[in-house]
Amino acid sequence: MDVPVHDVLIVGGGGAGLRAAIAIAEENPEITVAVISKVYPMRSHTVAAEGGAAAVIKGNDSLDDHAYDTISGSDWLADQDAVEVLVSEAPGEMIQMEHWGCPWSREPEGEVAVRPFGGMQTERTWYAADKTGFHMLHTLFQTSLKFDSIVRYDEWFVTGLVVEDGRPQGVTAIELKSGEVHAIGAKAVILCTGGAGRVYPFTTNSAIKTGDGMALAYRAGVPLKDMEFVQYHPTGLPGTGILITEAARGEGGILVNRDGYRYLQDYDLGEPLDLDDPLHPQKRTMELGPRDRLSQAFIHERAQGRTIDGPHGDYVNLDLTHLGERTITRKIPMVRELAVRYVGVDPVTEPIPVRTVVHYMMGGIDTDVEARTLLPGLFAAGECACVSVNGANRLGSNSLTELLVYGRRAARSAAQFVGEAPDVSLATLRTEQEAARQRISDWLSTGSSGDDTVAGLRSILNDTLEEGAGIFRDESSLQRACDGIRDLKQRFEKVRLTDTSATFNYELTAALELENMLDVGEAIAHSALARTESRGSHQRTDHPERDDERFLNHSLAYQTDREPRIDYRDVVITRWPPGKRTYGTD
Ligand SMILES: Cc1cc2nc3c(=O)[nH]c(=O)nc-3n(C[C@H](O)[C@H](O)[C@H](O)COP(=O)(O)OP(=O)(O)OC[C@H]3O[C@@H](n4cnc5c(N)ncnc54)[C@H](O)[C@@H]3O)c2cc1C
Repeated sequence: MDVPVHDVLIVGGGGAGLRAAIAIAEENPEITVAVISKVYPMRSHTVAAEGGAAAVIKGNDSLDDHAYDTISGSDWLADQDAVEVLVSEAPGEMIQMEHWGCPWSREPEGEVAVRPFGGMQTERTWYAADKTGFHMLHTLFQTSLKFDSIVRYDEWFVTGLVVEDGRPQGVTAIELKSGEVHAIGAKAVILCTGGAGRVYPFTTNSAIKTGDGMALAYRAGVPLKDMEFVQYHPTGLPGTGILITEAARGEGGILVNRDGYRYLQDYDLGEPLDLDDPLHPQKRTMELGPRDRLSQAFIHERAQGRTIDGPHGDYVNLDLTHLGERTITRKIPMVRELAVRYVGVDPVTEPIPVRTVVHYMMGGIDTDVEARTLLPGLFAAGECACVSVNGANRLGSNSLTELLVYGRRAARSAAQFVGEAPDVSLATLRTEQEAARQRISDWLSTGSSGDDTVAGLRSILNDTLEEGAGIFRDESSLQRACDGIRDLKQRFEKVRLTDTSATFNYELTAALELENMLDVGEAIAHSALARTESRGSHQRTDHPERDDERFLNHSLAYQTDREPRIDYRDVVITRWPPGKRTYGTD
């Protein structure tokens, strides 16, 4: 097979990738689009999203309120121009999804139903029961099938970006069923490779979320932005890390500690509490405080000995029993399914054990509001990108919205770019293809010499990050993480591979994913070490205060031959000057 060439190559067949592919095909059917994905597109992590996607629809809501909630929830680190784009384009995107067949849940009168979500002042989260991601991805996938200009490479693993003359020329990739290494040419590349939760040991993220696209961009000289901000979700199932969606709390679920006490009332979730007032808005909605604050409260409860000791570590209880069987079955059926299947608990009659779990990367590939990176012709959207609308803490249900809005913007920018871009260099692509083939064949033939296994190194990386760069960090823990990762990178050079087969060689892809995770982990640890303040999900016990004088800015981690170089860029403030975080009180 000679090198196939397309106009635009999209790496990733999740929500962002498919939204981008459709937008290009709609904009100009003459532009050829390839979507390449290491799993069949419907298995992308978007399918696992449960709770919903935020967009203003109700008469008493406003774009400014959605923007304000997002910005204050981000602890003022989100770029306000990017947030304004998000909230203003969100309703149109959601209605477009409806027209493509997404079965949004409805009110009895037929209006689109919206539910409350953490950190949002009012109900604005659209949902399709609690299988929103499944329905959204299905809708996008089926719509993409209508267009002849979109071709797919399913179960192809991208190993590298081909860059020449200061712009991408395509990628190198392994066709997993044959094991063959190919180059695929394209004038523009859009990275939509999702997050990287798997760098931590306990996560809601599916096994494929290993930060591949972030590492590809980082190695190509594009900075990774705000990598120190890692979101822990307060309600994962012990043992598996499977998510119990925030919608369970949105529908009225409460969190209680070992004494059956609703402990969140003792914590500052952004507003002073009047505990004598049972109708105080926060007392009614405290479970819907921002995720960073709720996760930090769990750690405090644990330190005070008020969590429950279980076979998979400490947990607290999420009590839904007062909601009744009808609400649970109608509004959050998957929560019941998951609790029964994975912890043997029926939430209609018993509380669900839950604990904090790594959920989302606020950081990612540095892009502007047009989804452009610093490398002309390279674009990024979805969870792998950092535009930034999430700042130091993402509000639940903004991510599905982000991948629609910015997936479409990336498509528009790429379509514009290919109109003016010169042809790709086939000679370069062939050379890179050969180099990639050689590397993998050398690795498979000599890779059995070292002592370390892929699984062994990955597990050390996971523990290094959890211990050094977890919910609470300080200088010495972060320095240990940086040193540990440097050591792991050296050991990785001699990692042992025992499977030499060509077909679906998952040991090989796991090794490539580990290489990516080491780069992502390095960027997380170094960015966190350099930020000597506490903001949102980044809590430094040695620097407990937010420091707007020095750190109202984004970190940018650049790869070098040694440690990453960390630069900073000011946050874009348009209309909302930084203030104290408040939520849910109006
Ligand atoms: C359990 C769970 C529940 C969630 N619930 C919500 C929610 O209710 N609301 C909300 O707003 N957000 C939610 N989120 C977050 C949100 O779902 C994700 O951020 C979003 O779906 C990511 O979409 P994406 O298109 O960027 O990436 P993904 O859907 O993760 O897709 C990534 C794609 O990249 C491909 N890829 C990656 N690496 C390579 C490679 N090397 N070669 C080839 N292909 C590659 C993969 O095959 C895949 O197709 C949830 C997340 C989780 C984990």
